Amino acid sequence: MFLARSRVHATLVKHSNVGRTLLSRLHARPAHAGSTPAASVTPVEKILLDTIKANGPVSFATYMQLCLSHPTEGYYMNPANSVIGALGDFITSPEISQVFGELLGIWLSLQYRSTGAKHDVQLVELGPGRGTLMDDILRTLSQFPHTWGSVKHAHLVESSPALRAVQEKKLQAWDGEHGLKLHWHDSIDDVPEADGVYTMLVAHEFFDALPFHLIEKTHQGWKEVLITSIPDPAAKTVLRPSDVLFASQPSPSPTPLSNPSHDRSLPITQTRFRPVLAAEPSPVSSLLGASSPRFSSLPIGARIEVSAASFQTSRKLGTLISRGAGGSALIIDYGKDHAVGNSFRAFKAHALADPFDAPGQADLTANVDFAYLVEALAGTATAHGPLSQRSFLLQMGIGARIAALKRAAASPDRARAVEKAAARLVDVMGMGREYKVLGVTGGVGGSAEEKWPFIAGEVQDAIQTNVKESQAARCSGSDLT
Ligand code: SAH
Repeated sequence: MFLARSRVHATLVKHSNVGRTLLSRLHARPAHAGSTPAASVTPVEKILLDTIKANGPVSFATYMQLCLSHPTEGYYMNPANSVIGALGDFITSPEISQVFGELLGIWLSLQYRSTGAKHDVQLVELGPGRGTLMDDILRTLSQFPHTWGSVKHAHLVESSPALRAVQEKKLQAWDGEHGLKLHWHDSIDDVPEADGVYTMLVAHEFFDALPFHLIEKTHQGWKEVLITSIPDPAAKTVLRPSDVLFASQPSPSPTPLSNPSHDRSLPITQTRFRPVLAAEPSPVSSLLGASSPRFSSLPIGARIEVSAASFQTSRKLGTLISRGAGGSALIIDYGKDHAVGNSFRAFKAHALADPFDAPGQADLTANVDFAYLVEALAGTATAHGPLSQRSFLLQMGIGARIAALKRAAASPDRARAVEKAAARLVDVMGMGREYKVLGVTGGVGGSAEEKWPFIAGEVQDAIQTNVKESQAARCSGSDLT
């Protein structure tokens, strides 16, 4: 089973003791006599080690930014990394079933129609991956003549030249279709705020890839947890005691996890980095600690992952869909309505990996704080939800759509595959619960239709659904163990 990136955290949350052990192991691999020697230094690792040597520890944000987006060696930038799909490192919902993109397209089209459908439309996707979601949404919109005639531009915000090439190939047939133009941008800041244009925007598994800072509440205020090398070349940092998450003392054992059956997907490696708590609060840690009223009620010792990049992107998204003729957006990702401090993880070849191992050669990700995205929208657009992916897709009619696809399937095997894929998207033990859908609307509109299915709330699991959750689909939720 190809792995969706939400899975690991669910396992950690469910078995919190195992999770703590696993995470402290992830972040605390000591240089230790008798442990497996580290592999050769990767290009990004060399840059990080040199930077730390010259300037001292770096933030988690800098670490993540360099690992994922270094212009030539970053994980997403290097064409040697297949990233998404069977040959890549993880799988995503649009790659699992076409129905995912179809239902997103229907929701966006409904929002547009609720405004009177008088204006030209620009479609925007943040982080389009292999271009599959955009392709499915365009195909869906092309089925609605009133909407389709107005769709004039599709803007793809993609920082990776390697993935842009994949997207261009996938989407080239749409370029020029009834005058539709495709555009690529490095940043959401480059998407035009055109007068009289309605914006439809999707961001699927985009926010989880944005850099975050890890901060800790102390009696002196919020301090940043930084990343240093082993041995620590910076004299002014305070190492954390070994009994907490991100333990920084060498483990007494060269193989700290005594029961590897709990996480056999995690390779035994020796990394060159470890977290350290900064000695003093900094302007960045103080600012981020004060950036949400929710953080002020957290106890001393709390650690949270806070993404300034996510806040800025969400704010820009709100502005974009509020200007011109308004707009609507769907943000889908794994995460919760609050901040967490221990979700940083890596994926390699459909398995959990140590985020400090082989920097630049594995995917890095962290859970999204949806409440933070909503706070960033204040004064621009209106947020709806978030709703679990299961509730969103069921109430958008995934059951009826799957029934139609099964009827049209060329063989019973194909029909079973269609059903199994859809069941995975709404699996109450897996993707259906862990992924959240946040709706955002700006400008005119505001009908009940606009707020469906958010207005309906979560589907109760006792309610019968049209999508049969086969035992096979349930098993997909435990594909880590
Ligand atoms: N939405 C796709 C891909 C998710 S992977 C899917 O669900 O299949 C994350 C995507 O975001 C990749 O395309 C990656 O290259 C892109 N990305 C990551 N960080 C980015 C950034 N800062 N700016 C623009 N694109 C980014």
